[in-house]
Amino acid sequence: MPATGTIPVTLAVVDPSERHNGTGLVRHDSPLDEAKIDADAAKIVRRLERSGFQAYLVGGCVRDLLLGSRPKDFDIATSARPEDVRSLFRNCRIIGRRFRLAHVVFGSKIIEVATFRRSPQTEAPVDPVESDGTGDDDAELAVDEDLLIRSDNVFGEAHEDALRRDFTINALFYDLDRRQVLDWCGGMGDIQRRTIHTIGDPTVRFREDPVRILRAVKFAARLDLGIAPDVYDAMVMNREELAKAARPRLSEEILRLLRGGAAHRSMFLLWEVGAMAMLLPELSTFLDDDEASPGASKRFWKRIDVLDQRTKAGPVDDLVYWTTLLYEPMAEALAGSKDPAATLTDFLEPIVARIALPRRAADGIRRIVGLLPKLAKGLVDGKLSRLGRADVALQALDVLEIDFTARGKSTVNVDKLRREIAPAAEAARAEGRANRSRRGGRSRSR
Ligand code: ATP
Ligand code: MG
Repeated sequence: MPATGTIPVTLAVVDPSERHNGTGLVRHDSPLDEAKIDADAAKIVRRLERSGFQAYLVGGCVRDLLLGSRPKDFDIATSARPEDVRSLFRNCRIIGRRFRLAHVVFGSKIIEVATFRRSPQTEAPVDPVESDGTGDDDAELAVDEDLLIRSDNVFGEAHEDALRRDFTINALFYDLDRRQVLDWCGGMGDIQRRTIHTIGDPTVRFREDPVRILRAVKFAARLDLGIAPDVYDAMVMNREELAKAARPRLSEEILRLLRGGAAHRSMFLLWEVGAMAMLLPELSTFLDDDEASPGASKRFWKRIDVLDQRTKAGPVDDLVYWTTLLYEPMAEALAGSKDPAATLTDFLEPIVARIALPRRAADGIRRIVGLLPKLAKGLVDGKLSRLGRADVALQALDVLEIDFTARGKSTVNVDKLRREIAPAAEAARAEGRANRSRRGGRSRSR
């Protein structure tokens, strides 16, 4: 830091072309298709810039636009602090206690505006005796055998914000005014090669946050990208680190893998790298052990293919994802069971404990599986009226339809049944929701 008194009293506004000098920035003149950029996100960036802050589109939206796919949402990174953002946008709320973010709200759309932050690991004290000061020796690792990031809340500069991110393709910033992609870590080359690379040593990055292993699977599957060999090897080598991750993140990330429309590729990769054995051993052993029930894994993959088709056609309920994913090993467990309800509980409870599958989801799966034989029978003998009263009837019907399609059976009657039971099922669902919120209300007030 310069000595006091050497700083000019008025801070000169830095010419944007001089910004980030000396940070290793590479600028790419790669204009994104303006028509595909969310107009509200662009407005936020421009207003922040006009107010003297740095502001860029970042992360998934830049990656997706460069790869030619449609971004799910638009995120902004800025030098403005959350309070600055709030003072500029009336439709802004600040969320998060530990790391505060600004959400600018446009109806049902939320644009996340995050202040640049840096990796807390860059602050780790390096043993001055062991280290040669380059930062790339083993001593830095020895500082903390357990690299897991537990807090992530330090403001920083734009380049630090890029480098704290997980994969190079996720660390590109887009400068709307200059129509340039800002690249501090070779992400643009990886976009062109369609390859997933971690920023820095993959083992370190996966040990800092093992959920990144699942994120690599997600991007590879959803965007049809290759995984660099050293990254792939590190995913395999570090898969057991997943046991250290916060458990709700695990079930949430599995759902994201299922929801992406590339569940087949995702689940295959998850199984192949051995991460499925950590998260859902009941499914991975089922897939490993095809000889025990020949054709069963083929049925599983067919079912997941149908699930992908359904995802592409419209929204799918989370319960349908979970039940379809676990259907085959559940059916195997249930075969010959004298007490199906207890068998299902025994099957699902370890999953609740291991990946924090929400208890409500476990209950829903149990009820759907219980309903399936009755629905299938109802389709044959026409006694359907009571089935619609179950609050998971429609989801059960979706699971059944996926099952029929995967087996090549006609689904004409399923469609008919859906129309018949829809009103009663919707009413039962609404009632279930109301009961739950009443129960929730009581427990909160305790
Ligand atoms: P998606 O299209 O699935 O939303 P995304 O890349 O936008 O993909 P998000 O989970 O929305 O993913 O995260 C936004 C950005 O935040 C990422 O692009 C990445 O730069 C950064 N990020 C998210 N999770 C991590 C993580 N676990 N470690 C480091 N950086 C992360
Ligand atoms: Mg995103």
